[in-house]
Amino acid sequence: MTSDLEHLIKDRIHAHGVISVGEYMSLCLAHPEHGYYMKKDPFGASGDFITAPEISQMFGEMIGVWVADMWMQMGAPGDFILLECGPGRGTLMGDILRAVRGVNGFYDAAKIHLMEISPYLKNLQKNALSDYQVEWIGGVEDLPVDLPIIAIGNEFLDALPFTSIVQQKGQWKERVIELNESDAFDFGVREWCQDYDIPLKKMIESDGVIFEYSKEREAFIHALSQCIFASGGAGLMIDYGHEKSAIGDTFQALKNNSYIDVFEECGDADLTSHVDFEALKNALPEGVKRSKIVRQGDFLRALGIVHRAEALMQRADEKQRGDIQKSLNRLCASDQMGKLFKAFCFYKDDEGKINPHGF
Ligand code: SAH
Repeated sequence: MTSDLEHLIKDRIHAHGVISVGEYMSLCLAHPEHGYYMKKDPFGASGDFITAPEISQMFGEMIGVWVADMWMQMGAPGDFILLECGPGRGTLMGDILRAVRGVNGFYDAAKIHLMEISPYLKNLQKNALSDYQVEWIGGVEDLPVDLPIIAIGNEFLDALPFTSIVQQKGQWKERVIELNESDAFDFGVREWCQDYDIPLKKMIESDGVIFEYSKEREAFIHALSQCIFASGGAGLMIDYGHEKSAIGDTFQALKNNSYIDVFEECGDADLTSHVDFEALKNALPEGVKRSKIVRQGDFLRALGIVHRAEALMQRADEKQRGDIQKSLNRLCASDQMGKLFKAFCFYKDDEGKINPHGF
């Protein structure tokens, strides 16, 4: 069945010509009426994909440990912004806040801010966090200017649009979305406007090689780190992606926990690409400190997730013990999320006092 959004995008291509991969992605995910994130709850076993906080409370608890430790290393400021970017159902923030309950002064100091594009998900977040005072913002430009910030984002960056270029006869062309003779979506190419310095050491000669970059993700990290540079604090981003910039086509669509063609289920499937962490790291302004890029499994283990799982298991029945073990495995094992997902943080530290936990 052709969705309303598919009609709308096709009409646009008929009227104005091909669209970029990024435009297609933005329309599919964030069209105000028909966009994927605007109308339903995509998360969990019955949704289209499961994110780490939806797998187990242990994930949010470990991020809570990280946040509380960072706050203390910053000198426990009496007022600070606790920002989550792209909070989904609000599960992660709920688990963080529960985990830091015992940290003296943290609750009073934290001004909780959520950056969310979807009114539908905002409502879910409102319900999940009804015990707390929460402010919603549309972008980093809405952040109060004078307070230190601790920002987190899990699977947020992969949802921002990207550009895809392909090598043809020794030249890079931009991949675009066009309509074929049967009026179906298809990939085409156009001249690439060369708005990006490709970091690969040698030009790759073989035809068909694809490189992806995201000026939107880099601009976001740059803007957030500038706020952090101005008023102090740190940002922690976790997502699937690669430690070093690399070639490859990672544009993907997920529906009911399975991969489908990126042109299927237009506006009803999640569209993402892998995050290039090296590019993010290089996008940070001078003066902002940056961590290593580490695997999620190593990060969570360094924060103590195995001990937490053992403690939970001691109070659990046999079935629950099995579930805890399974969740731990999913979050940390190399053949699950442990290796593909990476953690990375950036922070202000003029006096050389801060040593982010877990890296
Ligand atoms: N962090 C959550 C959800 C990840 S899905 C989890 O781990 O479960 C991506 C989230 O980012 C959704 O909440 C989506 O609505 C939000 N989002 C996507 N693009 C956005 C944008 N440009 N600005 C703010 N939020 C955005």
